[in-house]
Amino acid sequence: MNSFFPQPGRQVLEAQLGGAKYVERLLSYIQVQGSDDCWKWKMGKDAAGYGAFRSAFKTVKAHRMVATLCLSCVELTSEQHVMHTCDNPACCNPQHLKIATHTENMRDMFSKKRRESAKGVRQGHSKLTESQVLEIRKRHRAGSRRKGERTSDLAKEFGITRHTVNAIARRESWNHL
Ligand SMILES: [Zn+2]
Repeated sequence: MNSFFPQPGRQVLEAQLGGAKYVERLLSYIQVQGSDDCWKWKMGKDAAGYGAFRSAFKTVKAHRMVATLCLSCVELTSEQHVMHTCDNPACCNPQHLKIATHTENMRDMFSKKRRESAKGVRQGHSKLTESQVLEIRKRHRAGSRRKGERTSDLAKEFGITRHTVNAIARRESWNHL
């Protein structure tokens, strides 16, 4: 039996996965490191990057099984989300896992998204690079002194709407630049 971390939910997990050998297999797929490190899932992952484990019954998310084994000790409901405090979906270190309600999980996700967009991390729909934004701002500013270019011309050139050009010029968007 693997003994690298406490397993108070051992019996529950055995029942959930279909026997002790599945729990052993699950644990053998985890790269155990120091207690502060991320413990990498060594096998396949699902589309979201979570460790995927094939139990006797179905494919389950590895980190949720670790949370059941070490934290909840009862089978998790679909309302209970297991968050990664390390933001590493493939991590199976129980000390990096936190069981949360759906609401808490959404709140955490939104605050992360906000932080990212405040930093200007490119989102999927972002068409512009930082240097293009700076160029638009510079040329638009020149326009306000009637020497530069019109909003509509800039919008056309960069393939964005006039609204976006104005928002950039007024620093309502990309305001970290
Ligand atoms: Zn981690």
